This record gives sequence, C-alpha cells and structure tokens, in this order.
Amino acid sequence: MRPSSAGNPISRPARRPMQVLRGIAISPGIAQGPVVVLDRRGLALPTGALAEEDVSEELIRLGAGLDAARAAAEADAVEVSRRLGPQYAEILSAHARMIADPTLNREARERVERDRIPAEHAVLEVLEGYAARLERLQGSRLSARAADVRDIEDRILGHLAGDQPEPFQERLAGPSIVLAHDLSPSEAAGLDPRLVPGFATEAGGRASHTAIVAAALEVPAVAGLGPILDSARHCLWAIVDGEQGLVILDPDDQTQEQYRQTAADRAARFQILARQAEGPDETLDGCRVDLWGNIEFGGEAPACLERGAAGIGLFRTEFLFLNASEPPGEEEQFAAYSAVVRAMAGRPVTIRTLDLGADKIVGYRRGVGPGPEANPALGLRSLRLSLRDPEIFRPQIRALLRASALGDVRILFPLVSTLPELRAARRILEETAAELRAEGHSIPRSLPVGVMVEVPAAALMADHLAKEVDFFSIGTNDLIQYTLAVDRTNETVADLYSAADPSVLRLIAMVVAAARDRGIPANVCGAMGGDPLFAMVLLGLGIRQLSMPPHQLPEIKRVIRNSRLADAESLAAEALGLRTAREVAERLESMLGRVVPEATARPVPAGTPAPSNRAPNPD
Ligand code: PEP
Ligand code: MG
Repeated sequence: MRPSSAGNPISRPARRPMQVLRGIAISPGIAQGPVVVLDRRGLALPTGALAEEDVSEELIRLGAGLDAARAAAEADAVEVSRRLGPQYAEILSAHARMIADPTLNREARERVERDRIPAEHAVLEVLEGYAARLERLQGSRLSARAADVRDIEDRILGHLAGDQPEPFQERLAGPSIVLAHDLSPSEAAGLDPRLVPGFATEAGGRASHTAIVAAALEVPAVAGLGPILDSARHCLWAIVDGEQGLVILDPDDQTQEQYRQTAADRAARFQILARQAEGPDETLDGCRVDLWGNIEFGGEAPACLERGAAGIGLFRTEFLFLNASEPPGEEEQFAAYSAVVRAMAGRPVTIRTLDLGADKIVGYRRGVGPGPEANPALGLRSLRLSLRDPEIFRPQIRALLRASALGDVRILFPLVSTLPELRAARRILEETAAELRAEGHSIPRSLPVGVMVEVPAAALMADHLAKEVDFFSIGTNDLIQYTLAVDRTNETVADLYSAADPSVLRLIAMVVAAARDRGIPANVCGAMGGDPLFAMVLLGLGIRQLSMPPHQLPEIKRVIRNSRLADAESLAAEALGLRTAREVAERLESMLGRVVPEATARPVPAGTPAPSNRAPNPD
C-alpha cells in the first residue's frame, strides 16, 4: 500500500527516538497530532513508510519522476537556447545532466529499497546531502552550486508530486500538525484550525504577521526552529508547545500523555479566567483601564465580546486583501466593516487603513512603487503605499466613512512617520467625506482620527502630531523593530528583539506625555499590550487603554485587577532608569510574580529532555 500523499500515514515503521526542538513561541497553546511536512513550495510531502510489496512500484515512480524532470530540463534548455542563445542554455543542460547522473539515481533507489521511504524523501535526502557538502565549501565557487542542486530538487519533486491542484488542506486525512520552512501571513490566514491544530516553521520571528494570524486563529505555533525539516521528514507525530516554544518530534507515550494533561489544565484555567470577563477593569486602587480587542478577521468580533473587550482597538483591514484574487471593492469592504460595527453594538471600533507591504504582500499589487524591494520594511508599505494608490485607498475610505454612520467608528492611519503624511491622509478623508455627503450619505461630522505611533520619528514628533489627531495608538511591534533595527520576522536576530528595551519604554513615555499634554488618549495595540509581563509597566507609564488579541484579554484583566497604580508607577519610574532589556525584564518578572504568581509559572511537562537543535538560551 502506498503512503498517503498528505496527512496520516498508512503504515508505521518502528518508532523513532523522540527529539525536542527549541524555537520561538509565537502563538500560545498546545497541539499534537500526525505530521504533514510542506516542502519549500508549500506542497505536502507524503508521510509514512512503504509496505514491502509497494517498493517496486515506488521505484518505478522514482524512475518516471527523474526521467520527466530530465526531459523537462532538456526541453527548457532548447527553448532558452532558441530565445536567448546557447550560452544561456548551458545551465539548464547541466541540470539535465545532473538529474540523469547514475550516482543520484542509484543512491535514491537504494534509499527507497533499504529504508522503505517514498521517492520524494529519497531524492531530498540524497540532494540535500550534496547541497550541504557544497555549502560547507564556503567561499569557493562550488558553494554557489548548492543553489543549482536545490533547483533540480524542486524540479524533481514537482514531477513526483504531479498535479497537486487542490490546497494541501483538502488532501489531509485528518487534523495534522504542519511543519514547514516558512508560512507567509496570507498562507497562515488560509489555515483551517480544525484541520491544522498547530504548526511550526524553520524561519520566522516573534512579532511577524504570521504570528499575529496564528494567535488570531488560536492555533498554537512555534517559529524560528532553524533547519529541522530534514530530521522531521520521517516524523509521524509531533507536539507543538506554543507556551514554551518547543516542538517535540516522535514523542514517547509518556510525553504525549503529559502534554494532553497540560493542554487540559490550560483549557480549565482559561475557563476559570473567562468567567471573569464581565465587570470593571480597574486596579485595586481604582484606576480604570480600557481593554480592547485586536482583530484581523470580522469573525473575531464575537470572541472579543465573550472575553469582555470594551471595544475593538485595532482592526487590521489588510487581511481582507491578502487572500483575495483582486482588491475587494467599496461594497465588499463596507459589508465587512459594517458587520463588525454592528456586532460590537455601539462599542468603539477602531479601523486601521491598509497596512500592506513588508511581510504582507498581495499578488495583484499593480504598477505601484519599485516592484521587489531590497528592504521592504523600509520601503513602499502601509500608509505610504495607500497615498500613492488612490484606486485602492479611496474605496477603502469611502467604505469606512459609510460604516461610520452605523456606530462608534474611529479611523487609524498606520506607519505615519511625518506630519505631511498625516495631513495628506486627512485631506483624502475630508475630500471623500464631502463627496459622500454630496451623494446623500450621512457621514458623522466628528469622526475620531488617530495615528499609529510605530516609528521612532512619530514618537519624537508626538507633541506636534498630537495637535492634529484625536488619539494615538502605539504599535510596539514595529516600534521595537525600527527602534532597535531588528527585523521582526527574522529568527536569527529574534533574541535582539525586545519590548523590554529601555529605549522602547522611553519612546512610549514620550508619546504618553505628548498625549497627556493635549488631553488625547494613547493606547498600546502591539503585542506588548497583550503580554502580562508589560501590563503594569505600561499602566505606570500612563497608558490607560490596551488592545490585544482576544485570547489575551482574560490574563490581562487578571493582572490589572490585581495591581495597584502606585506600584505600577514606581515600577515604570524604576524601569525607565535601567540600562538593559535584561535588567528591565527581570524587574518586570519579579513584579508580575508578586502580583499574579500563576502568570509566570509555565511548566514544561516533567521528564521532557532538553532541546537538541539549540544551545540553551542564555536568558
Ligand atoms: C504594531 O506594529 O505594533 C501593530 C500593531 O501593527 P502590525 O503588527 O500590524 O504591524
Ligand atoms: Mg505595525
């Protein structure tokens, strides 16, 4: 019997030794199940071992895949030679020769026969071995050949996969843990949590939008594991521990059971916390704090209400665009925004205008900007992009303004870095409102308009910005990235990305001071606002509104209700004087441990061995 093409294995080989891998916890919770490994192109590799009687059929499939890949490379070489000249075709002819190489054929066949693994895995093992050897020859011209090896690997796997027309999720035999090199925010947004209860990736950082989507879907996830797919390829069962940032491949029975227990305890703890959704959010000494929800999809509004959100502090509208084949028009957007406004029944709904670009790329972005960018996080993203593309921006503003007639809507401009940008955006807003009124729509005269403070320039100019807006929303995810010059999506510098850095706290203090002087609110809507560790220091810095993914609301409510403003203020004063992120984090941890001891205790199930893919984290 052949192994399944995606999802559950059909026959099981002897159990492999358990491996514990450490990555970055990007979405909390625990999931376990059979594994599906996605290759670099996002296609599911077959799982499981071959039955003895299937080996000869698999060898035929391997041979056919190699032949087809070679023939396609030869045909491409002929075509390129015809169009561009023979010198450009040589690389493709070399690929065809590499695919036809008898050593590759023999080694791949041996693996299928000896290890009873599917043809895809045999090819990957052999070619990844070649690529790794070439990469070790650093500096030599041969190391660049590793890219050629990976090219032919993709080509052969493509032919072995045949047509995989439908998305991998539709081919899953049941709920499966996805292991992949990386998932983009839009790929993550396309996951169905019933089919993919957890995922883990080799790449990716703590504050990426993939992390934000995973948290929104409440799918436990770990990123930044480093190169693990080689060892994961034959794994049958995995645990994703999104609390500790661990992934456990082929866990033994005892570990599986311990994690089931940990997951059940967590669910019970959540139920208890969720019962506290109602009631005022204020400190023990009576300081009121507004706790709001962040959403990426309209369907999250009920979760915000269930968990006691007083409003929506951030609706990331770009997710309406990410998986669409073309930009949603005014009517579609109006329907999406008004559904959220209605669901929130009079509570404030803060709708952020498009924040596309950087890691949120849409396929149909037309003729705007310089095309692929060397530094997209510093390039044509967010409000800059909207201002350059009125065909996208104006329909969104029209839809927002129309939805604002249905409830308490506030408009938020992302990534504002200068006053002229804010003014340009406001001008479009005013012109569009006038246009809609002329068409007979009733548009409120006093629609609150805010800016996200997420680049240091905006924090430094907050006193001037405060005179021209109704509120600030501090986007700490980007503020940290741009202050510390650390890419929020890059796992190799993830240890340098820290909300506890005193420079970040100082910028927040500046923004709060500017807001206070003008009597406007300043809210924190980045991940820092939903992290229990930072709730008290933000309160002490003067923040009175926090906005977070709905699942964080119960924890933050508990921290606020167990804190005293006086303690929070002395904590903030002390933290502002500290010199390093480590010093700040230690101080915050000890305070949180005193206020809500359970919030800091996150046990790894007893008996779990130390991770094998990373040196122990010095922190
Ligand atoms: C932020 O940068 O903190 C923020 C809330 O926006 P996003 O995470 O969508 O960039
Ligand atoms: Mg941002």
